[in-house]
Formats: sequence, C-alpha cells, structure tokens
Amino acid sequence: MTELSPASPDRIDAPAEDQSLFHIISPSQFTRPLLDEVCLLATEARTLAKSRHGARALQMLLADKRAMLYFSQPSTRTFLSFNNACHVLGIRTSEIRNASTSSEVKGETVEDSIRTFSSYVDVIIMRSWEQGLAMRAAEHMNRIPRPVPIVNAGSGKDHHPTQALLDIYTLDRSFSQRGGIDGKTIVLVGDLARGRTARSLAYLMKNYSDVHIVFVAPEEFAMADDIKQHLDAHDIRWSETRNLNDVLPSADAVYITRIQTEYDDADAPVQHDYSGYQIGLAEMKLLSENGIVMHPLPRGPELATEVDDDPRAMYWRQERNGMWMRVAALLKVFDVADQFRSIYADHNIG
Ligand code: ASP
Repeated sequence: MTELSPASPDRIDAPAEDQSLFHIISPSQFTRPLLDEVCLLATEARTLAKSRHGARALQMLLADKRAMLYFSQPSTRTFLSFNNACHVLGIRTSEIRNASTSSEVKGETVEDSIRTFSSYVDVIIMRSWEQGLAMRAAEHMNRIPRPVPIVNAGSGKDHHPTQALLDIYTLDRSFSQRGGIDGKTIVLVGDLARGRTARSLAYLMKNYSDVHIVFVAPEEFAMADDIKQHLDAHDIRWSETRNLNDVLPSADAVYITRIQTEYDDADAPVQHDYSGYQIGLAEMKLLSENGIVMHPLPRGPELATEVDDDPRAMYWRQERNGMWMRVAALLKVFDVADQFRSIYADHNIG
C-alpha cells in the first residue's frame, strides 16, 4: 500500500503541481485537471462498485486505514456520505458528533483534540461552526511529527470544498451531452452571504471558460465581495439581481439554497422575507427545457416538494453523487488513484 505523501505547509490552500492532495481545506486547491480527474474517478468508482467483484476490490483498497469523523456541527448528508465513502474503500471509521461528549468540555484545546485523533487514525474529516478551523487543524498537523490529512467537511460560513466538488460533478454529468460546464449560465439563489456551499461553488467557477454566474439574493444575504473579487481576478462574468424570474429562462442550472438561520443572532431574531427566492411549479415553467435545479439540502420553504417529480430536479442525484465524489477525494488523499485505475482496468469495464 502506498505510504502517505509528506505534508508540506505551503500546500494547504494552493494546488500542488502534480495534482496530488494531502489536506482538503479550500476550493483554491483545485485546478481544472484535478477537477476533471476527481469527476472521472467518481464515475469509475461507482461503475466498479456495481459488480460484486468490483465492490470487493474497492473495499480492499484502503482496508488498512482508519478515519475519524469529527463533526461538531450538525450534518446528515456530509456525515453519511463520508462515512459510507470510507466503507466503500474499506476504511474503518470512528466519530465524534458532539464536542460535549469529548474532552473539549474538560478544557482540551481543539489542537490537542485533533492531535489526539491523529494518534489513532489516518485521516480526520471535520466539520465545525468556526471559520478557518479546518485550516488551523491542517497547519497544526503540518507542525507535528506524524501528520494525518485533514478534510474540511464544512467550516462555518466559510467553505465546504467537498460539497463544491460534488456540485461540480453533478453539473458536469448533467451537461455531459451539452459540452460540459464551459459556456453555461449558473444561477445561485438564496443566502449567499452565509451559505458556504454557494461560496465554494462560485469559487470553483474560475476553472471553467465562458461561464456566467448570476447571484440572486436579498440585499442582506448578497454574495460577499471576496468571491466577487476572486471572479473578477479570473475574468469570470458575474452579475447580480433580485429578480429570479428574469433570469430563469436563460439559466442552465439554478442552485437554490436555504436561509442559514442557525447563524442568526439568537437575541435579535429577524423575520426574513424569502418570497422572491423560491422555486415552485410556477418558477419551473419559466426555466428552460434543459435547465436543471440543484440544492445542497436540507431544503426549507425555498424549494417546493412538488418540484421533486420534474426531471430537471437534480438534487436527489446530487446527494447520491456526494458519496462517489467523496470516494474519489479519498482516493486522492491516500494517493491510491493509480492503484484504483489499474484495478478498474483489470475489471475490463466498458
Ligand atoms: N448541507 C449544506 C451545508 O452544510 C447546506 C446547508 O446546510 O444549507 O452547508
């Protein structure tokens, strides 16, 4: 089995020249070749897993590895899809889903907790309320003698890089007969200020040519300037409107998100008017025949359940894609993509 490649501090939020990954902390680590590679790995892994032999071969690939799922912020999909992605690859998992059951209540620092996990496991997949915590954990790992990779499974309002990967994968598959993501108009709707999935997805758009990103949000939840400046710096066309209906006919994809009320100030609850930022049957009539609807889930009132039966509703597929994309990400983190490819080739698929 391949040894883990050595961590190096300057690799944390910059792409590695050889397209390798150690920590996954930020969408800034992903180049177009790397995105194309993980999309292909995800498709090949799901294809291989369809046969019993293939599924067994996958389960042997990382059977000597252990993962820690350290989720101090609630999660359903990300937790379950990572947990099951680990199991697809034979990785055994342990978990802390509530810091109140860990020694953090005794005053242990997050750094010490993370270092403790690293004594027992080969990768730490973590979600937290705190922006930048995954980065801090990765920096800490890079300072200790036996670092293990840190995978950011959502860091506060900041970023959610593996969700962005699965969103790219979903877009890529949806547009596979229409020239891929290049040249598409992607409309991001909702709480774009505090929704980390929209931020990370918008960030990754720098890797595609001739795309047009449209932000549709109430004023108080507008996309933050750091992302707009990043798009400007990469000559990615973006615009902003409050009128969803105006942009639906020209959208190739509508990525709708919920209001992130968990970040509201508990002492000063605000009543948000979200009525113009919803997708129901009336909005689906305005969307083009080929336009798709995505949502990172969980949904709130912004996405009517009636839309689920429309063939353009892509969010349940998007959810399933998450597990396969996380399999692909783990193949890269453990540096076994080549080994996987030879197993895939041996199975003579296609
Ligand atoms: N599940 C996604 C996240 O963790 C989206 C959301 O919660 O709105 O960010």
